[in-house]
Amino acid sequence: MPTSDPMLDRMRLAVALAARATRFVQRSSTLDGIAKDDRSPVTVADWASQAVVAMTLGGALPLVGEEDASALRDPSSAPLLSRVAEAVNHALGRSVAESECLEAIDLGRAAPCGRFLTLDPVDGTKGFLRRQQYAISLALIERGAVALGVVGCPNLPAHDNRDYDNADATGCLSYAARGHGAWIQSDAAQQPLRMAIAPWGAGEPVRSCESVEAAHSKQDVSVELLAAIGAPGTPARLDSQCKYVVVARGGADIYMRLPVKADYREKIWDHAAGALVATEAGARVCDVDGRPLDFGLGRELTANRGVLAGHPAIVESVVRAYAARPR
Ligand code: AMP
Ligand code: MG
Repeated sequence: MPTSDPMLDRMRLAVALAARATRFVQRSSTLDGIAKDDRSPVTVADWASQAVVAMTLGGALPLVGEEDASALRDPSSAPLLSRVAEAVNHALGRSVAESECLEAIDLGRAAPCGRFLTLDPVDGTKGFLRRQQYAISLALIERGAVALGVVGCPNLPAHDNRDYDNADATGCLSYAARGHGAWIQSDAAQQPLRMAIAPWGAGEPVRSCESVEAAHSKQDVSVELLAAIGAPGTPARLDSQCKYVVVARGGADIYMRLPVKADYREKIWDHAAGALVATEAGARVCDVDGRPLDFGLGRELTANRGVLAGHPAIVESVVRAYAARPR
């Protein structure tokens, strides 16, 4: 049976309600027709999602969120604020004042400390805009390690069909508690299923996945690495921490996130919840040098570069191939 933990239950509820807000924004906005640099549907969804999570958690713990409300407080943002409040009202099923939304969003301004929550209210912005994959990711970090993680994937089918380009009507939610396994459910009413990575034996094909965005992962190098480990192929591409979920439920054997810029450092909210879900499903999660991800160094994974998550034997081969790569 899935573990029962009051904090985890609260986090699952928060993410499920936030998904109602992001779906509402996605339904009520014309995402396709917007100008390239107009991120307003995304920002409305980001802010609404962060507000809903913060309100549901009720300030239980310091919250390190990706967003804050400073831009939203500007009088020129009044139309956006009203859309944020509309989405929050829809998600919570009650009337919430705009000022309450602003205060809730700013609860996410806490600094990392000994025990805190971290939130990416809409991870995979580009996927959200394309109406493809995005995630709402919430994790509890205790003394530098991820203790609880919830990844809401509103457009990802609960059963892997390798179709990541089209939005599923129901979506799914995955969660994990350290030492207690990872679980997936299609909606709150359904009994959660235990997640497990796919079995794999030497010489078998390797199903891999990576970011859609070439700026987030070196896509030519992933093809090189697959060839180098004797499993030539091209990774499936999808946005957000849905990639960790796909690996955790056996839909891919490895997720590769290969550094594009030497000085880029991964953000904790982009990985904490997904990494725990994958680890609890049996994956090895580390950086491209094989180092475990260190969540105890602030808002960024300053001791790591890139990320690998997958079957331990495949990850080991990829770490070696990465180190042996001619530079
Ligand atoms: P994904 O959907 O997996 O491509 O990841 C989306 C996340 O990539 C965003 O939340 C950003 O924080 C993060 N990101 C932004 N720039 C970079 C970069 N240069 N390298 C890796 N990740 C990045
Ligand atoms: Mg993100």
